[in-house]
Amino acid sequence: MASGSCACKYIKYTTSVPPTRLSNCHCTTCRKQSGAPYLAFVHFPTGTIQWQTNPTEWKSSDTASRTFCPRCGSVLSMKVYSMPDVEEVAAGTLDDDVKGLIPPPSAHIFLAEKASWYELPEDGAERFDEWSQ
Ligand SMILES: [Zn+2]
Ligand SMILES: [Zn+2]
Repeated sequence: MASGSCACKYIKYTTSVPPTRLSNCHCTTCRKQSGAPYLAFVHFPTGTIQWQTNPTEWKSSDTASRTFCPRCGSVLSMKVYSMPDVEEVAAGTLDDDVKGLIPPPSAHIFLAEKASWYELPEDGAERFDEWSQ
């Protein structure tokens, strides 16, 4: 259905279904880990992503773990423990053949931690100071 990889292509994945949701997280961990003002995640039902090579896991807090490529450092995915049915993939790792599969962004979350220098454009997505599913 959709496919993606890290920057060096050591880690590749395919999915058996299209993503259900696109959300943008402005939390400090997402910003620091990605090096970007926020991280866009596409959500997939758990078990629908096939990893050709498993990325390295990092337990970033008591509430979530994240993965990255051990060779190039690309951020790949996040698993929130309170949402066992969902696996989130960093949207920037998707290959370019996904146009039409990706829903418009539905939410900006953790805006309380947003980079002060980043001006959020009006894109119609819901806005939350903290977490929102
Ligand atoms: Zn890589
Ligand atoms: Zn975040």
